Amino acid sequence: MITVGHLINGQTSADGGRTQDIYNPSTGAVSKQVALASKITVEHAIAAATAAYPSWRNTPAIKRARVMFKFKDLLEQNAEKICALIGEEHGKISHDAAGELQRGIENVEYACCAPELLKGEHSKNVAPNIDSWSEFQPLGVVAGITPFNFPAMVPLWMYPMAIVCGNCFILKPSERDPSSTLFIAELLKEAGLPDGVMNVVNGDKEAVDVLLTDERIKAVSFVGSTPIAEYIYETASAHGKRCQALGGAKNHAIIMPDADMDNAVAQLLGAAFGSSGERCMALSVAVAVGDEAADQLVAKMSEAMKTLKIGPCHDADNDFGPVITKQHQQKVFSYIDSAEQQGANIVVDGRNPSVKGYEDGFYVGGTLIDRVTAQMDSYSAEIFGPVLQVLRVNTMQEAMDLIDAHEYGNGTCIFTRDGEAARYFSDHIQVGMVGINIPLPVPVAYHSFGGWKRSLFGDLHAYGPDGVRFYTKRKTITQRWPSAGVREGAQFSMPTLS
Ligand code: NAD
Repeated sequence: MITVGHLINGQTSADGGRTQDIYNPSTGAVSKQVALASKITVEHAIAAATAAYPSWRNTPAIKRARVMFKFKDLLEQNAEKICALIGEEHGKISHDAAGELQRGIENVEYACCAPELLKGEHSKNVAPNIDSWSEFQPLGVVAGITPFNFPAMVPLWMYPMAIVCGNCFILKPSERDPSSTLFIAELLKEAGLPDGVMNVVNGDKEAVDVLLTDERIKAVSFVGSTPIAEYIYETASAHGKRCQALGGAKNHAIIMPDADMDNAVAQLLGAAFGSSGERCMALSVAVAVGDEAADQLVAKMSEAMKTLKIGPCHDADNDFGPVITKQHQQKVFSYIDSAEQQGANIVVDGRNPSVKGYEDGFYVGGTLIDRVTAQMDSYSAEIFGPVLQVLRVNTMQEAMDLIDAHEYGNGTCIFTRDGEAARYFSDHIQVGMVGINIPLPVPVAYHSFGGWKRSLFGDLHAYGPDGVRFYTKRKTITQRWPSAGVREGAQFSMPTLS
């Protein structure tokens, strides 16, 4: 059986230590194993990155960007293989995997702008004969720890920008679907990246803890669930590292009484069930304002859900595939059970999915639950499955209060025809990414991505302009070249212009 190894100093190998099974969620069978890096293996990766850093730091930004131009080409040339690898281990349908990859490639395109992004700020003549400028220097060796649900895109949020900024990188991908992530990183060598600048260690908590505590690691980017994000942020910060840790979500859509209901249902259908609801921006809660809107929404949604096609990743006719593991499938089922036990109405029940020929796959059918309340466990938790819950409120303010009271604040959206209502909503809602008649308001690569509240620990969002700031430190230089013969005496008061 194949063991997915590590990429250290340009060489891919497993370290012969602990391993873990990788499943094909579409069939339920074990397909490969992944090596789980020991402390010593991670330390080798850190040593390789540390050795590569001085030369990479001094490589001109345009040369670093040229590697990314080539890398983008290679990603496009290898798209079919990458999407197949994503599908085999994540279960994502090929069209969805292609969308994920494309959003990742857009981050590589943004990283190609490195010379422009790193130009700095210059002020001439801040005082006679004195100029001042700020420049953005790399941090050194930085690390990324990523979740299973976007094995191509989320790592690409991180290392292209970190690398063009002059850093060396160590990535610890999800141990559940590491093959596409590793394959993509290997393409960087072909793109001309020197060995040691980009390294991948597969593994679990043992590997992560080395990255969080080793003093040679200067910054940590994390994306995953909130309890782990909080642990990462606290541990990395306690060890003096810069840290951004993006966590879980519960994304609400407000359905106003004046919304174009057919459009709202079509948008919600894709946003709730696409990728089996395993997106941190999945719309998992619809808050209908008024019973009339709620009744219409539930009737039209349950009708639309009859068209949902569920099945294995390689059949592009399917709308979504399985969830990631058997345990996760059971967890999603248990949230549906609990909603039922606590008094909600299961309108469409996905607990008994039947996918002919794939009976052992980890499927969950699209599920619609009406009359959910804020007190139910299925409402407070992030289910991370193809489950849409409907809450009924009387006013838009009530809907906004619900959203604001939730522990997560990643994404949200309003469906309405009323510009004033939409403007009020986007101005006041306590959520980091807002859509107006847009169900998945994932910022494009030249903006930045991040939630509020317990969806993000740290100050800077991921990728885009915040990515440049995260992976660099500002240095401000003030210089004087006195005219020949002009010398100033000692000044004992704070220097000013007056
Ligand atoms: P996870 O938190 O289980 O794992 C994420 C990473 O942390 C993995 O690399 C894993 O190996 C590592 N990890 C797990 N347990 C650890 C521990 N105890 N100590 C140290 N490291 C540990 O998340 P997941 O299940 O892979 O991904 C799904 C979660 O990620 C969801 O909650 C989803 O909302 C979130 N997510 C958030 C965003 C965002 O941008 N906010 C994007 C994608 C996914």
